[in-house]
Amino acid sequence: MNYFFIPLIFLMGIMIIIICVLYLQREETPENDDQEDLEEWTCPDCGFAVQLGTECPFCYTKKPT
Ligand SMILES: [Zn+2]
Repeated sequence: MNYFFIPLIFLMGIMIIIICVLYLQREETPENDDQEDLEEWTCPDCGFAVQLGTECPFCYTKKPT
């Protein structure tokens, strides 16, 4: 019976590693969405080049989509 459990434990270890890798890749996905907020954009109302965020600090105009 011991010869049956050794490959079973080995497969369980591989499954846990695969689940961990998939879980870490899922956590990285929201970071890609945040990068859009870090892009520089020019306010269409006052022409100010906004470095951070999606709202103009002078006229509070939202970033055009
Ligand atoms: Zn503005």
